[in-house]
Amino acid sequence: MAENCIFCKIANGEIPAATLYEDEDFRVILDLNPAALGHALILPKAHAANLFELPDETAAKALVLAKKISGKLKDGLHADGLNVVQNNGEAAGQTVFHFHMHLIPRYADDTVDVKWKPGTLTDADREKILNLF
Ligand code: AMP
Ligand code: ZN
Repeated sequence: MAENCIFCKIANGEIPAATLYEDEDFRVILDLNPAALGHALILPKAHAANLFELPDETAAKALVLAKKISGKLKDGLHADGLNVVQNNGEAAGQTVFHFHMHLIPRYADDTVDVKWKPGTLTDADREKILNLF
């Protein structure tokens, strides 16, 4: 556990939260300020600040868990779709620096905004990025 990390405290049961699911590695809770009905957060119990710090084994389990909980939320709440959102770093909108995945059920008439303005992939950018791999 990291000191003064609210999601460490929630994930490990020190601070109560509306828990949808728990196992030895994860706790899944309802977001306190939901973007839409059923907005949930997957929290690993072991602290990792972000995706870059997350152990491979936890990362693999997190997506399987996201699939399972997403299906239950979508079916149970009769959602029309669902976004999985995961922010890393302040520039990307991360506000709590303990890895988490947002599961946001979507409804035809909701007010959720997960959008960006489409840009253009230039030849120079494409080459620069392809050269990294
Ligand atoms: P992010 O911007 O990706 O770091 O998301 C942080 C999320 O955590 C936001 O959607 C907050 O509403 C949510 N949040 C912060 N504190 C709590 C809390 N104590 N219980 C439940 N959700 C929380
Ligand atoms: Zn933490």
